[in-house]
Amino acid sequence: MTTKSRRCPVCFDSNKNSVTFQKENIDKKKITSFTYASRKNPEFMCHEMVSCLNCDLVYVTTPPDKLKLSEAYHAADYDSSEEALDAAESYIHHMNEVISKLNLNSKILEIGSGSGDFLYNLKKKGFTDLIGIEPSISAINSAHPEIKSHLQEGIFQVDDFQEMNYDLVCCFMTLEHVYDPREISESVNKILKKGGYFVIVLHNYRSLVNKILGKKSPIIDIEHMQLFSKKSIGLLLNKTNYQDIQVKDLYNRYSINYWIRLSPIPNLINNTFIKLLNKFNLGNFKIKINVGNMIVSGRKVDADIKSQ
Ligand SMILES: [Zn+2]
Repeated sequence: MTTKSRRCPVCFDSNKNSVTFQKENIDKKKITSFTYASRKNPEFMCHEMVSCLNCDLVYVTTPPDKLKLSEAYHAADYDSSEEALDAAESYIHHMNEVISKLNLNSKILEIGSGSGDFLYNLKKKGFTDLIGIEPSISAINSAHPEIKSHLQEGIFQVDDFQEMNYDLVCCFMTLEHVYDPREISESVNKILKKGGYFVIVLHNYRSLVNKILGKKSPIIDIEHMQLFSKKSIGLLLNKTNYQDIQVKDLYNRYSINYWIRLSPIPNLINNTFIKLLNKFNLGNFKIKINVGNMIVSGRKVDADIKSQ
């Protein structure tokens, strides 16, 4: 079930101005509800992807249609709350500068909030006006009781939110999954107050680790409709009315168990190694590594400031 070839979803250039990045590699028998879950074991399946010579974005030329995609996420199983907690802490750590500019009444929205761990962390800091949108019911069901009431089941639709209303909108590890990342960035801009922040965490396909892993990188995945580099994400924000754009490397802090699970070593060796580590109580030891992710922030252009 595919739609016709799409143009580059960031710069709208024709897919003729592109080179092959990955050939299609899909084994239909292997698709399960975990295929669309976050933080699963890598499967290395992918749609055909091309690299845009104009803006550096890598994208799927014939993505599944929008409805199929949202159904897949709706039904996706959800695993591993501990890793989600670790990720949330890493994001907050990197967002100190943005968070310091907010006050406790600031309105905050997270698109693709999973089980709400990031928002729960903000709630513990005293923020109260928090909303998370999440398509996976099982993710919401595994949320901490104190944050569950802030989570709404669904796909982000701009019409559901008031314009010029939010101080911060976050979108972590989600922009690769959506059908139209430019539409998301434009929509977020609409609902942000002037000077409000949009913060994104996403993979950097040009990072060293992803270059080394090549086809065995976890970013080569059937669920990714596009992959960004520092150039292409900077360009997306620039084209959609943001200023003071910052693109930085992100350091994730996870348990050794999790790092091994993500690695391209065959599962059998992986599992044996994990058992061994756990026997010596080392599996849960946390280490901080740059796994080729980036954290990006931009402020909605403030016309009053610009005209000065
Ligand atoms: Zn492009």
